[in-house]
Amino acid sequence: MRSKILQSIDAVDLGRGATAPVVGELQAYLSRFGWLRLPDQPSAAPAHEEPPAAAAGKFDEGTEAALAAFQRFYRLPVTGRLDAETLALTQRPRCGVSDRPRGPAGAAAFAAGPTKWAKLHLGYALSAGTADVSDAAVRNALKVAYRHWCLVSRMEVHQVSSAADIDVRFATGDHGDNNSFDGVGHVLAHAFYPPSGNSALAGDLHFDDAETWTRDLPPTGIDLDTVTLHEAGHSLGLDHSNDPTAVMFAFYGGARRALTADDIAGIRSVYGERRRTVWTDIDTAIDGEGPFAGKAYLFKGADYLRYDYGEDLPDPDYPRTIAGAWRDLPAGFTRDLDAAVNGQASFAGKLYLFKGGEYARYDWAADRADPGYPKPIAGAWRDLPAAFTANLDAAVSGKGPFAGKAYLFKGSQYVRYDWAADRADPGYPKPIAGAWPGLPTGFTANLQAALNGQRSFDGKLYLFKGADYARYDWAADRGDTGYPLPIEFNWL
Ligand SMILES: [Zn+2]
Ligand SMILES: [Zn+2]
Repeated sequence: MRSKILQSIDAVDLGRGATAPVVGELQAYLSRFGWLRLPDQPSAAPAHEEPPAAAAGKFDEGTEAALAAFQRFYRLPVTGRLDAETLALTQRPRCGVSDRPRGPAGAAAFAAGPTKWAKLHLGYALSAGTADVSDAAVRNALKVAYRHWCLVSRMEVHQVSSAADIDVRFATGDHGDNNSFDGVGHVLAHAFYPPSGNSALAGDLHFDDAETWTRDLPPTGIDLDTVTLHEAGHSLGLDHSNDPTAVMFAFYGGARRALTADDIAGIRSVYGERRRTVWTDIDTAIDGEGPFAGKAYLFKGADYLRYDYGEDLPDPDYPRTIAGAWRDLPAGFTRDLDAAVNGQASFAGKLYLFKGGEYARYDWAADRADPGYPKPIAGAWRDLPAAFTANLDAAVSGKGPFAGKAYLFKGSQYVRYDWAADRADPGYPKPIAGAWPGLPTGFTANLQAALNGQRSFDGKLYLFKGADYARYDWAADRGDTGYPLPIEFNWL
């Protein structure tokens, strides 16, 4: 097992000419992380990137140059000496991936690694977990980490059950990749860059199982989410940043679970940008049908966003204007919509858009609004209570046991409409509270949008309000537990 280099030194101030045993440890550290080349360590780096060479055990010119480069990169006083501040940094827990020394050229702190994925769709799989947290918790940390990177770039990463591009494992000591872990502390994890040629390890993530991994906040162990986010960055082709606030900074300093501008600029430099717009107070939402199945559309003001249920990510180049994409909509229906619902029975294939006291009809297959609209809601939607003929909050068609019905929401009440009879069912409106069991507090009045899930989210109803959303299970006829959740990150 690799010794924990420099970890047990108390205080030191060494410079050129020193020969103390600590010099050997310093050289081992610098060599271990890519800053120095020792005689017994052939370098794989291209000649022009080769670090300085040193004689083992002697604080010589090469050692001094390597240490100065390390200090310069990590924004320490460039003394060329192993001083207290430098020692303190080397003693911090860190990522095991080598730093890649480079000059001060460029303002950006981030750095793209030596390789990138040639495809924008990757799968990961956990092949060996840890006793510290459950496999499900590890998979959730992976999902969250990759989602952070995917929400801002064009990369898409999903959990898969076989043929994973990215293998994730916990291991201790020598684990077969010539890159042994070092026991508790110091090196916490390492990852492998995207493939160049034929490397089975490319993209993989390894966590040192000698650490105690936790997910609570503030962390009681090493924060799995923080380290996963960092290692995932390597697996996508990012190098260490020397911005001490960045996720891609090599040293661990407690929980750091969100990307910084430096990290985002880094991943976008490799894979391009997924424009990110986080909306709250959505006007309305609808899931696509026909040629637009698999997509969800969220509307706000004069704009809309498109969400891909298969990728479970927002599509990259939104928002767009409603007027520019939804053809032949009547005047007034290209902004500030109230509600939207997909027709069923003999009305299948039609999308109904509500605004004020009127509605328009859109044909999914033709991808244009039907002529002859808008029309007044009153009269056309038969037997609706008067209050429900204008200014609806939200609308959705039932699924599963509730197929054939549309549900119209306004204030704290709802009305059920029967598609086949083409009239509102008698006995409505009713209070949302009670009739929709399990909805979180606040979701029984003044909803803003409702839409049905598709693909792996089929059978779920999503209700939006403010910055949050709730999920309802049609088959169970009950709100799912664990909600509301924020729209930010989970959708956008
Ligand atoms: Zn790293
Ligand atoms: Zn490894």
